[in-house]
Amino acid sequence: MYLLLVGPPGAGKGTQAKRLAKAYSIPHIATGDIFREAIKNETPLGKKAKEYIDQGKLVPDEVTIGMVEERLSRDDCQKGFILDGFPRTVNQADALTNILEDLEICLDIVFNINVSDQEVINRLSGRRVCSECGASFHIEFSPPQETGVCDECDGGLYQRDDDNPETIKERLVVYSKQTAPLIDYYQERDLICVIDGEKNPEQVFVKIKEALEAIK
Ligand code: AMP
Repeated sequence: MYLLLVGPPGAGKGTQAKRLAKAYSIPHIATGDIFREAIKNETPLGKKAKEYIDQGKLVPDEVTIGMVEERLSRDDCQKGFILDGFPRTVNQADALTNILEDLEICLDIVFNINVSDQEVINRLSGRRVCSECGASFHIEFSPPQETGVCDECDGGLYQRDDDNPETIKERLVVYSKQTAPLIDYYQERDLICVIDGEKNPEQVFVKIKEALEAIK
């Protein structure tokens, strides 16, 4: 199954992608995670990406597209994948169309996870992420059992540098200008399935699974 998740920052794409990867045994490919790993390891890619990520801007297409092309050509993507956070521009979507054509892969569905700007601000400003396994918590809406400690793996929780009020606002502007046009792009290709992302993660997951069952 070849899936793509679109939605504003904080829509729950990562949370749903992790569940889907487990349920369907397919890789979860998140460009944001790849960049954060590169930043942690202080690689040249990480240094370049950090300049943009810290400002809430998109990493340039010429950096991002090549990185995704390399990832999708690996063997583990042959039976399926979940793309989370890519594409984020129409140019990236065109590049993805070409990459998938070369790999003889057709996307099955594109989930548009809908969440209001106010909900995004509420979610991201209280988000805490596990530095080990990437699990997401919220200090108010879904706090960990022990403050600062991941329920899943006991890893330490941290606040992402780009989850601060100014950068969140910029990321929302970038989303509406550069990424939201992808909804029409994939609508024209009859691939969009709209999901209400304001429901709780379990309810959202049920809706996604229902849509996947329907296209099988
Ligand atoms: P995310 O974890 O998906 O919220 O991504 C965090 C940040 O990484 C974004 O705000 C961008 O700066 C950068 N990023 C992630 N994916 C992409 C992409 N497809 N194109 C450009 N920048 C990206």
